[in-house]
Amino acid sequence: MSDTQLYTLKENSTGQLHVFKSKKDDAGECFTETMSVCGKMRYNQTIKHHFACQTETFTRKKLAEIGRSVCGTCVSHLYGDYS
Ligand SMILES: [Zn+2]
Repeated sequence: MSDTQLYTLKENSTGQLHVFKSKKDDAGECFTETMSVCGKMRYNQTIKHHFACQTETFTRKKLAEIGRSVCGTCVSHLYGDYS
């Protein structure tokens, strides 16, 4: 696998945080998938984001810091990918 999977963290209208898979193009611009990894939140440009296009290591550290307001399904997805 040559592509490093990157992640973006977004906040929905109820204040819950969801993780989106992201990629950077050759110019370094961040592109984010339409649906969160849990499938519960649709990407919205206008909504508050906490970070964009970060590595899995960074994302897991941040999610641990943020704690309870992060979607549990998104968290387990991140840890499930790591084996
Ligand atoms: Zn989620």
